[in-house]
Amino acid sequence: MSSSSKSTRIQKTNAEILSLLDGLSDKVDLERKFGADYLPLAPIDTQNERKTDELSKTEKTKALSKLEKQVKKCTKCGLCEGRTNVVFGVGDPDADLMFVGEAPGYYEDVQGEPFVGRAGQLLTKIIESIGLKREEVYIANILKCRPPENRNPNAKEIVLCTPHLIKQIEIIRPKVICALGTFAAQTLLDTKEAIGKLRGKFFEYQGTKFLPTYHPAYLLRNPNDKKKVWSDIKKVRDYLKK
Ligand code: SF4
Repeated sequence: MSSSSKSTRIQKTNAEILSLLDGLSDKVDLERKFGADYLPLAPIDTQNERKTDELSKTEKTKALSKLEKQVKKCTKCGLCEGRTNVVFGVGDPDADLMFVGEAPGYYEDVQGEPFVGRAGQLLTKIIESIGLKREEVYIANILKCRPPENRNPNAKEIVLCTPHLIKQIEIIRPKVICALGTFAAQTLLDTKEAIGKLRGKFFEYQGTKFLPTYHPAYLLRNPNDKKKVWSDIKKVRDYLKK
């Protein structure tokens, strides 16, 4: 096959995949409107691809930096069109604790860093409450580009962007992943269970301890639930101390 016909065929296949994902996204949005369960998004099984177990901190730093360069060029979904910055993630590449939120908001998009607004300041306090500094953990989101008007991510965006997060987790190999809020918890656990029922319990995600808790933005609106997050984060602290 000539290189031009091969390239045409690849373009056609990509267009077909994107068309299928568009259809899936429409289906999910429609079903959500009617309150129906949506197609479960199975986490990608990377068990057989794990080659990064033995990475040193320097190697992790290099691997993350290489990945960040790739993600900064990503145009896999339409969110690339409205972004100011790709919000890749920040923190210690060798962190024991990793926080995963939903998607960048206005300030994150402008600054290119996750959790920098009021919710971010609260997250920093939560981190410090267990004796850690913000720069000693790693913070990322499921989506790396800001959805317009901070709307919920759709199925196509999740499917296309989650592999970036999975690669980050594979490189960092934290001891605990703490999911912040409904969206991160439900996406990574592939469930529709409410965050109120998921929070404060340890699950397994790709072989890593995984504990969901409320999103700091939710706490700003519901300060009475801060004590629940304090209780959750203490469990993380106690696990890390073991
Ligand atoms: S949201 Fe994710 S998949 Fe979409 S363009 Fe940004 S980095 Fe790529």
